[in-house]
Amino acid sequence: MTRKGILFIISGPSGVGKGTIKDAVLKKNTDIKLSISATTREPRSGETNGREYYFVDEDQFRQLIDNDELLEWANVYDNMYGTPRQFVEKNLNRGQDVMLEIDIQGAFQIKARKPDGVFIFIAPPNIEELSVRLEERGKDTPESIELRLAACKWEMEQMKHYDYVVLNHELETAVDTVCSIITAERCKVKNLIWSVI
Ligand code: 5GP
Repeated sequence: MTRKGILFIISGPSGVGKGTIKDAVLKKNTDIKLSISATTREPRSGETNGREYYFVDEDQFRQLIDNDELLEWANVYDNMYGTPRQFVEKNLNRGQDVMLEIDIQGAFQIKARKPDGVFIFIAPPNIEELSVRLEERGKDTPESIELRLAACKWEMEQMKHYDYVVLNHELETAVDTVCSIITAERCKVKNLIWSVI
């Protein structure tokens, strides 16, 4: 019995912990391929080109768009981010599951192109906790935190367009919930191609 590759999209407001959840879920599901995005943002300390992101300049990013090499792309807080198309298509066609961790604008573009994808919205338990997390992670200026919190209201309203919502109240529970979603999706009959019927 073989099956089609499933595209899992982890998305949600900035600072909600998508990246941490994605890393933990992939550790438990080593057979899922992570798509590495291209970005124009500067590498942070400890980040390596080709591991966290493909770090490119604006001209290179424009070229990726012009050559239709991105499955989706978006401007997220003044930097461009995009999902390389070929990696995703190649793996899905091989029956390999793929995971994207992207913002909400990007998730909408993927939904238009890959409606069979599994869209998982990671939500903060409440806005106060999100505010504390953004401060604690120390990546953002006070102005940028304000901007992110203001965007969060609109972002939370977009939850209705997703297949699943996972509250990131406690990391371990959120990770287990995403793993359960993956298991359930893999068992769906529509995701199976029977070699013998
Ligand atoms: P960071 O710069 O902190 O790694 O990521 C900033 C935001 O960009 C996060 O919300 C992350 O999910 C989003 N992001 C990362 N890669 C992509 C991508 O390829 N496409 C889109 N649309 N968003 C992305």
